[in-house]
Amino acid sequence: MIFDILTIFPGLMDSPLNESIIRRARQDNKIRIDITDIRDYSLDKHCMTDDRPFGGGEGMVMKPEPLTAALKAVQLKNGKGRVILLSPQGRTYNQKVAEELSSYSHLILVCGRYEGIDERFVTASVDEELSVGDYILTGGELAAMIVIDSVTRLLPGVLGCAESATRDTFSRDLLKHPQYTRPRVFEGQAIPEILLSGDHEAIEQYRLLESVRRTLERRPELIKQTDFTDSEKKLLTKHGLYQKIEALQTGLNE
Ligand code: SAM
Repeated sequence: MIFDILTIFPGLMDSPLNESIIRRARQDNKIRIDITDIRDYSLDKHCMTDDRPFGGGEGMVMKPEPLTAALKAVQLKNGKGRVILLSPQGRTYNQKVAEELSSYSHLILVCGRYEGIDERFVTASVDEELSVGDYILTGGELAAMIVIDSVTRLLPGVLGCAESATRDTFSRDLLKHPQYTRPRVFEGQAIPEILLSGDHEAIEQYRLLESVRRTLERRPELIKQTDFTDSEKKLLTKHGLYQKIEALQTGLNE
């Protein structure tokens, strides 16, 4: 997959894209990341990419010409791609959107700054606006990093264990069960005995129960859409959990 990033602060991306799993994915050619400095496409001699807003008001607005020229140059080199503007006004990003984006072969991520971007660039050139949450960042770069990081780990061969992404929190509308490693006892807290039993089926059941308990407690709205197999339903019913899920799914608790 190719990620193109359009930004006026290319240096911001150095570390997150050059460490750990993302670095390995780049080395293994699972992904390619091209960073384009929008300033290189500025038409004026001071490399200005922003100007005062028409109609007055606070702050500056990113000009449409450098953005359009930078995008055209990138598309000429790498193809049309899917053009995404990171924006607090966009569709809220989540694991399902990450899965959706992982099926594209080329994403172009446009990072806004200042008060935002001239709307005519958005109308003419952007396929979709994405928000990483209901808060305001100083720019789209960190949001673009979030998209790249979360999409990359879903690509085939990127994670060491292919199964791990399918068992993550959100992958089936459940929070992941609690996890433990050595030592067996830490500051007086022992790990659950079942994890030492070697009984894989019992461990799987324990993990599902914990996952469901945790989701019911912390994110009940998620579990409203979770599908369970018949054997899972049976197990959850035995522990009094499926009744709670059914009540939520049929709206009795609303
Ligand atoms: N004035 C704008 C508004 O009220 O909608 C916010 C501009 S923000 C300071 C500057 C840039 O940061 C935005 O153009 C966008 O690219 C990025 N940004 C800020 N918050 C974001 C969020 N929650 N998700 C994605 N991008 C965000």
